[in-house]
Amino acid sequence: MTIQWFPGHMAKARREVTEKLKFIDVVIELLDARVPLASRNPMIDEIVSHKPRLILLNKADLADQSVTEKWKVYFEEKGAMVLAVNAQTGKGTEKIPNACKQLAKPIIDKMISKGMKPRAVRAMILGIPNVGKSTLINRLASKRTAQVGDRPGVTKKQQWIKVGKELELLDTPGILWPKFEDQIIGYRLAATGAIKDELLDFQDIALFILNYLKDHYPTSVQERYKLDHVPDDGLALFDEIGKKRGCLLGGGYVDYDKAAEIILREMRSGTLGRISLEKPEIMVSR
Ligand code: GDP
Repeated sequence: MTIQWFPGHMAKARREVTEKLKFIDVVIELLDARVPLASRNPMIDEIVSHKPRLILLNKADLADQSVTEKWKVYFEEKGAMVLAVNAQTGKGTEKIPNACKQLAKPIIDKMISKGMKPRAVRAMILGIPNVGKSTLINRLASKRTAQVGDRPGVTKKQQWIKVGKELELLDTPGILWPKFEDQIIGYRLAATGAIKDELLDFQDIALFILNYLKDHYPTSVQERYKLDHVPDDGLALFDEIGKKRGCLLGGGYVDYDKAAEIILREMRSGTLGRISLEKPEIMVSR
């Protein structure tokens, strides 16, 4: 489900997240590895400034591995702890409990120094819609782990999920809005399926993808669509793909809607290859 964000929704989301933050030690911020900046809430630093944070680059299976490595370094240089994961298969998620424990160590140590009994680290997952929050929660809540139930001060509906012995996870994630700062961010989010297609023109999204692919992943497009060469013009590439895939209207004209549908589906599912739509070196120079 994609939420249409209006100022009232944003204020409500912020309030809800702030309320939940009171009960947790560590924030697990989920980003899409293909678009780590576009999938980041613009106010996240302000909203969770006072909590230790673990950044997860999710859907790493769909992103370009070498670019994900660079993003890892990028965020680490900013002082964050970062893991690349695949919430669907669980790859990389086994490192989450230990990372949270490390991040919460000062808090737990302080409790111990005050003579309190050490307890499991409490964390919540936070991210924009469609980034994989529910998938990750389900993945971490393996069958063997029982829900630990209500905690005083937390509304009845909020449950904690036990992840191993030393981590407890809030069963409902915090949802924040994505960046809408400029149109290119909208296209990046639409290309990954993070926002509804209706928000932008379907054909424009496909053209955006093709313009990016011809510059950054020409071999992937050439191989996937069996092209002799990759035209230097996005629209010409759109035409070529449409013809190759038999997306034709009467008179030999390309059916761009049909071709766009194929391009979007193949981009989002990873059929076009592992593609990162944001690279740190481009973002810095842009
Ligand atoms: P939420 O809105 O943040 O809770 O996102 P969901 O958990 O509903 O996930 C959105 C879509 O992304 C679903 O179709 C998931 O199957 C898919 N998804 C989640 N994590 C991954 C991942 O690591 N890799 C891939 N390929 N798909 C994922």
